[in-house]
Amino acid sequence: MLDRAITLPEIEFWLRTTSDAMLWELFEAADATRRAAAGHAVYLHGLVEISNYCVRQCHYCGLRAPNLNLPRYRMDGEQILAAARTARRLRYASVVLQAGEDYGIERDWLAHVVRLIRQRVRVGVTLSLGERPERDLVAWRRAGADTYVLKFETSDRELYDRIHPKLAGANTERMAMLSLLREIGFRVGSGVMVGIPGQTFASLARDIALFRDLQLDFIGVSPFIPAPGTPLAAGADEAPNGAQVPADELTTHKALALARLVRPEALIPASTALAAVNPRRGRFLALTRGANLMLPNLTPPDLRPLYAPYPGRPCTPETPNECRLRLSKQIRQMGRVVGRRAPDRRGHQSAASTAPTD
Ligand code: SAH
Repeated sequence: MLDRAITLPEIEFWLRTTSDAMLWELFEAADATRRAAAGHAVYLHGLVEISNYCVRQCHYCGLRAPNLNLPRYRMDGEQILAAARTARRLRYASVVLQAGEDYGIERDWLAHVVRLIRQRVRVGVTLSLGERPERDLVAWRRAGADTYVLKFETSDRELYDRIHPKLAGANTERMAMLSLLREIGFRVGSGVMVGIPGQTFASLARDIALFRDLQLDFIGVSPFIPAPGTPLAAGADEAPNGAQVPADELTTHKALALARLVRPEALIPASTALAAVNPRRGRFLALTRGANLMLPNLTPPDLRPLYAPYPGRPCTPETPNECRLRLSKQIRQMGRVVGRRAPDRRGHQSAASTAPTD
């Protein structure tokens, strides 16, 4: 199955398979593809959840605007720079600035913060801030952000529209924005949730084929986790006749392994949501089934509980240093190495990167 491009019916077949022998073959193929195309490195990018304000009403997400019980916060520039300095000190290749869709994060203000991170702290910057107008994205790219992550969540138009109510006055749309991000010069990240109520095996297979068509540089695949107080947690229609994708760890790993097969050189995180379904092993198992990136959390500990798109996110009392030491040890025990520099488009270590080396 490695010597040619995997077809859409094959992707659906692998997603549906329950045979241990077949699954072993799939996970082996994903691991071998990762090794050959992306190498031994596990990259570490520091996650900084800079705001939990959100104007959207996504039916699955705990940060949605109508959730009035959630106390909201927005980090200031100094806090963000401090987190970026920690990332640099711990030799993380990049910081990922993530937030709800928050227009309190103003274009020029964030451009200034990104510029300071690039020039003074000298660490890569990835953004994940929702659907923003083109002029914001251009300003942030010019300031030095290199990657933008925007999950399309599902390519099933009907399901997408059902769980993403339109925002009055905004004419953005995720699929269109992904092409725009590429034109602007970003490395483009996207991805899906696995097991959204109403998601069929056929549509998830199409999502995975799209990872290839969109030539994604970063692919996030995480299980859908019902978030209290959201419409999808209240119960929603599942796809009938055995077509519904289960929202479990194994199915997520299958999707992740297939993502690796269609995009051999991509950065694929062992996502935090996998730790929510299997706290002890979830993420490390993913690293043997196609993943090659982890996102240790650098959000100030007092704010972390407030960034809650879904429940069960790991909340350890570890300091960033302790977390870094633990991850290095666990990665070494797997026979892997910690990646020192952000990989370039072809998955190789980039000579131009300003991230420090050992
Ligand atoms: N506002 C930005 C950043 C999103 S953070 C954006 O929309 O792109 C929220 C991420 O958490 C989403 O991309 C989604 O994939 C994930 N998420 C939200 N609710 C979730 C849920 N109930 N289960 C699993 N993942 C969820």
